[in-house]
Amino acid sequence: IVHEREGITRDRVVMEAEWAGNQFYLVDTGGYIPKGGDVIDKEVKKQAELALDEADVVVLLVDSVVGITAVDETIAKLAKRSKKPLILAANKADNDQLERDSNIFLQLGVGKVYPISALNGRAVGDLLDAVVAEFGEIGVLELDENVIRFSIVGMPNAGKSSLTNAILGRDQQIVTDIPGTTRDSINSRFKYYGHEFEMIDTAGLRKKARVHDSVEYYSTIRTQQAIRASDVVVTIIDAEKGFASQDARVIDEIISQGKGLIVAVNKWDLIEKDNKTLKNYAQNLVDEMFLLRHYPIVFISAKERQRIFRIVEKVQEIHSTRQQRIGTRQLNLFLEDAYSRRQPPAVKGNEIKLNFCSQVRTAPPLIIVFTNYPKLIPASYKRFLENRFRETFGFQGVPITIQFRHK
Ligand code: GDP
Repeated sequence: IVHEREGITRDRVVMEAEWAGNQFYLVDTGGYIPKGGDVIDKEVKKQAELALDEADVVVLLVDSVVGITAVDETIAKLAKRSKKPLILAANKADNDQLERDSNIFLQLGVGKVYPISALNGRAVGDLLDAVVAEFGEIGVLELDENVIRFSIVGMPNAGKSSLTNAILGRDQQIVTDIPGTTRDSINSRFKYYGHEFEMIDTAGLRKKARVHDSVEYYSTIRTQQAIRASDVVVTIIDAEKGFASQDARVIDEIISQGKGLIVAVNKWDLIEKDNKTLKNYAQNLVDEMFLLRHYPIVFISAKERQRIFRIVEKVQEIHSTRQQRIGTRQLNLFLEDAYSRRQPPAVKGNEIKLNFCSQVRTAPPLIIVFTNYPKLIPASYKRFLENRFRETFGFQGVPITIQFRHK
């Protein structure tokens, strides 16, 4: 995330990682670059607080060549206050002497020092062992096949908690509240017209205990975890603010994970409307991100509870579409028809044939097309096939993958 504010220039990075059979998210708190002379300011604290708040285990990284700095002391103090498991790693300990010197960091009062060298990998395994030893029993998830899982994501203040509360507000019966995968989160089960839903809490939305004003990042681990755990994701856009570049990133993530997607334009009550407003707004969104033409855009007001349950109905609809399987006969009729309308361009005199296709997977759907030259089919032809496929079978709201394989 490129943050507008000065001093934060680099992307904050979240990666999936695995060590010794433990899967976890690794978060780089990102690029705070202190301005000259300005050793410590509010941003350092905010960055550290955000990281501490969302982490299960915290690694405090210090520089053994530089020694203890004021920033180290401040962050160590904050970290100790958080009561999270804290591991102190002294980087750049490239040789035995530096490794011995790193004991100076005992003065930070954090406990054992793990001297490492990120550059050459020295002792990084020991550090990771210490990290995963702190995990305990975090995050064991039980999945019930009949439940439709969805989550709500979006920029700070787009209205995520308002929509969450509006959906859970009345009309439907809340079945159970179950602890989520991250600290402070609660997933809610409810029934609506005979279907059972589980709303995955992204960031303590129901409690809204704390708001990290502008430093409440969109792409937190929580967003990523929520997307991963969902069948369908609702991306909220603030009608007045419009589409942000972070929205595009998160939408890309949702689609690449094969999750269903709904775009909810919230705060529609604040927009002055004539009979063209809605259509134009939707068109502008599609112009911003062309692939949105395959996904539903719903205009809502969480505050006035307008079309809130359109969202829940769409979630259900998309969930069921995502599980749909097209029969092989029907699919091959479609392929013949598409091929007769347009053939992939011949390459060096080789005619490309599409012999046969089959849907080999649902949720998310995967279609395999067998051909004599899988590698020679241009992207434009793949798009043509996908468009024809959607015109024929629908699949609105669901990412589909068409792959070409050798006959
Ligand atoms: P979150 O940060 O995405 O969870 O956003 P919130 O749900 O906390 O909402 C942020 C602000 O927008 C609050 O002041 C809400 O009252 C306001 N808000 C949310 N939804 C609507 C809406 O549909 N219409 C209007 N006018 N305001 C809204």
